[in-house]
Amino acid sequence: MTAISQIERPAGAAAPMSLVGLTRPELADALRTIEIPERDIKMRVAQLWHWIYFQGAREFDQMLNVSKVQRARLAEHFTLARPEVTSQQVSSDGTRKWLIRMPPVDAKDKGAEIECVYIPESDRGTLCVSSQVGCTLTCTFCHTGTQKLVRNLTSREIVQQLVVARDMIGDFPGMTPPTDGLLPSGEGVRAVSNIVFMGMGEPLFNIDNVGAAIDVLSDGDGLSLSKRRITVSTSGVVPEIPPLGERAGTMLAISLHAVRDDLRDTLVPLNKKYPIDELLDACRNYPGLSNARRITFEYVMLKGVNDSPAEARELVRLLKGIPAKINLIPFNPWPGTKYECSDWDTIERFSDIVFNAGYASPVRTPRGRDILAACGQLKSETEKVRARARLMDE
Ligand code: SAH
Ligand code: SF4
Repeated sequence: MTAISQIERPAGAAAPMSLVGLTRPELADALRTIEIPERDIKMRVAQLWHWIYFQGAREFDQMLNVSKVQRARLAEHFTLARPEVTSQQVSSDGTRKWLIRMPPVDAKDKGAEIECVYIPESDRGTLCVSSQVGCTLTCTFCHTGTQKLVRNLTSREIVQQLVVARDMIGDFPGMTPPTDGLLPSGEGVRAVSNIVFMGMGEPLFNIDNVGAAIDVLSDGDGLSLSKRRITVSTSGVVPEIPPLGERAGTMLAISLHAVRDDLRDTLVPLNKKYPIDELLDACRNYPGLSNARRITFEYVMLKGVNDSPAEARELVRLLKGIPAKINLIPFNPWPGTKYECSDWDTIERFSDIVFNAGYASPVRTPRGRDILAACGQLKSETEKVRARARLMDE
């Protein structure tokens, strides 16, 4: 559980606290600080919840079922401010990448910039959210892993990514969607219908905040995303996999990327701690696993490294008995990487072996490549600006 103290504004800071992104218990605590009587707390939380998360309200005065006096009181102490979007890039394929500036969470924090990517398709819209600023792990093919600055995002900051995304694509009642770029269409299709924790960071190193955020995202009176449409991707933090299933009950994705421990040790160094057989055991026992709720295994295609037909066959053998989907991800290169993406023929050969073993359409189409928005390319702008400044100093 995120303590309210984590989200209180730092001493001396002028801005009142925003209520956007808080969990129900945090909202209740916030209301207690302005001495709302205990007997009214539940009702007030329910009202605020509806306005903040269902309606996307930006002003307390929109909350017509809250008395004028109460609205004024709320406005005196709190805001409905969102974190600032410092840049938006729209790809030629409709993918949008936002750089979001999070205000400091405590007196020591300087604030953080994180990236969040929206991927529209004809029948769905997927938001790829970050769970940490940077990542403490150092997977050798991942750009995020090279970022120095690391901290956990609070549950509030995780939820705010969805609120900001819905603001930006006009997805709250009464808003007008933007005219540039694609949005999914069709009866009952929501502009953001799915969430994947595949942005910056390792979500299972931040399970308390990720779990609390999932409670907010999936709450049926507010943002109302089905847990079957929320996927948490992990590089393999084995001890946290059962708690994720029990606590959050979301879909699980595993960044496997290799079928032998010696290779996985170099690609995903966490493998030295939790090797493949332990990881797959945790998968077999994932709560709620069934043919209708499969685990996604992600496999990044690295030229001459992990892409042979023998490895494809071994992948199929390893996953036998686990209700699984396989996602082959063409490697997304980034400046300075030593890896290359496998040739298309090699990917097809690999994919055919996997397909013939009964796994459907496994290659993930790269999206938003022109704006460096693809998996593993997210790295905060602050970091890049600092690197540029360092170069100029030299
Ligand atoms: N830390 C978590 C979630 C974020 S990474 C994890 O590792 O699962 C999301 C996905 O992008 C992971 O499968 C990761 O291995 C993959 N990825 C990282 N860098 C990549 C790159 N350069 N090209 C393609 N996929 C990449
Ligand atoms: Fe971290 Fe995931 Fe990147 Fe590995 S792949 S460095 S776990 S974000």
